[in-house]
Amino acid sequence: MEVTEVRIKLIEEGSDRLKAFCSITFDHCFVIRDLKIIEGTRGPFVAMPSRKLTSHCPTCRNKNHLRAGFCNQCGSELDRDRIDRDEEGRAKLHADIAHPINSVCREMIQSRVVEEFHREIEKSKLPGYISRYDDIDLDPPEPHFDTNHRMMPQTEERGFGKGIL
Ligand SMILES: [Zn+2]
Repeated sequence: MEVTEVRIKLIEEGSDRLKAFCSITFDHCFVIRDLKIIEGTRGPFVAMPSRKLTSHCPTCRNKNHLRAGFCNQCGSELDRDRIDRDEEGRAKLHADIAHPINSVCREMIQSRVVEEFHREIEKSKLPGYISRYDDIDLDPPEPHFDTNHRMMPQTEERGFGKGIL
């Protein structure tokens, strides 16, 4: 299995350790989106897409976020010991949706994404740079409207010249 494409959306300066979102394609046929590139103490690393963990209220069974002290539905006080912790005592509040199951695969994805991340930073310094990350959703392209609510030709949106309308 091979990572055949990486698309990156850089986050503007000023945000914290989150440097970019990205998607990866395996073998030209399977895409995983919403990976994050995070600046760590030993350089950038890749975080897999994840979801927030929840737990059920013992009284009414409503799902609550793990940090909630009280149930959103019935107001019962929730057990603060319900949060799992890792070896270093950090709260486990998220679970990966998709992730590699061995270090060879993790390293393969990580090195490819970080390489593309550095390349993307260089590309972003060039005039006319556009991130390709969001393009995945543009199939078919959305009709584009100008301020007078008229349809505009696609060339206008892409900046290749003035529209004809
Ligand atoms: Zn409840």
